Amino acid sequence: MSEFKPILAIVVPCYNEELCVSSTVDKLLKVISELVNKNKISEKSYIYLVDDGSADNTWNIICDMHKNCSSVKGLKFIRNFGNQKALIAGYEAVRNIGCDCAVSIDADLQQDEWAIEKFIDKFTDGADIVSGIRNSRKTDSFFKKTTAILFYTLMNILGAKIPMNHSDYRLVSKRALDIMEQYPEKYMFLRGFFNEVGLKTSYVNFDVKPRMAGESKFNFIKLMGLALNGITSFSIVPLRIISVLGFLMALFGFVVGAETIIEKIFFNNTPNGWATTIILLCFFGGIQICCLGIIGEYVGQVYREVKGRPRYIKETELK
Ligand code: UDP
Ligand code: MG
Repeated sequence: MSEFKPILAIVVPCYNEELCVSSTVDKLLKVISELVNKNKISEKSYIYLVDDGSADNTWNIICDMHKNCSSVKGLKFIRNFGNQKALIAGYEAVRNIGCDCAVSIDADLQQDEWAIEKFIDKFTDGADIVSGIRNSRKTDSFFKKTTAILFYTLMNILGAKIPMNHSDYRLVSKRALDIMEQYPEKYMFLRGFFNEVGLKTSYVNFDVKPRMAGESKFNFIKLMGLALNGITSFSIVPLRIISVLGFLMALFGFVVGAETIIEKIFFNNTPNGWATTIILLCFFGGIQICCLGIIGEYVGQVYREVKGRPRYIKETELK
């Protein structure tokens, strides 16, 4: 066993998690004390909870736990900024407080918390990023499963090589956190970012459990937002596809036009059929509007970034 005992920070985003948060913290403290006993991590390791603007009692519970145990720390956002921002804030905070590695895990502890030991082993073996890969998606609804598979397939086709069944359950080293600081983008898509940087990455499989209490905080709109942000942050292939599509449509128009003229000159056939005209009009009109929408997504991304608004606003921080 090596002498180096890293300080581990466990980052937990929480949004209206009053039913889960205290039992989650208890379980994570158990993991920490077990790993400290095994000499795998430093006794200075801690948990960092980011309250993403909860409207319920979550923050009060976090404050109480902090009073009783100094290794429970946290901050509260002024309003709900979304899970990615909460994770980013957590990473930034633990980097400033000090840690050698940070593991992010959901507040409902759907991910098997004991996999953290395997994360630490890989980290001690030299990995800068250890990504958690779900063993299966059996706890997800049919809709979520299908959309997730579609999303990851699409991302891979578009060039952002994110492993299937990837999750935000991961370990990142201090080095990775330092690199993250150099990326000014406000709407950072963490799964893409950590895969793209090029640091040494390992993978750990883990089991997914059903949510311990409460309901999923992700609705269809939030998931769509996350997916669209993922695509527009990491690939411009859709824009290229639009150019190719435009070219192919023009080519089609040219060929049909040429055929019509030839028919008229050599066979004296006048083209007829309003139906064909209407169908083509609607078809190509639809494609054009769809393409405009895709371009619009990128314009929107530029618009959001260029305003340079802060990623999130803190209300309070427990020191
Ligand atoms: N979460 C958050 N802000 C949000 C939505 C979710 O911080 O706007 C947190 C939530 O508290 C949980 C994690 O993100 O810790 C994952 O959310 P959830 O378990 O509801 O998602 P699911 O497991 O259903 O994908
Ligand atoms: Mg969950």
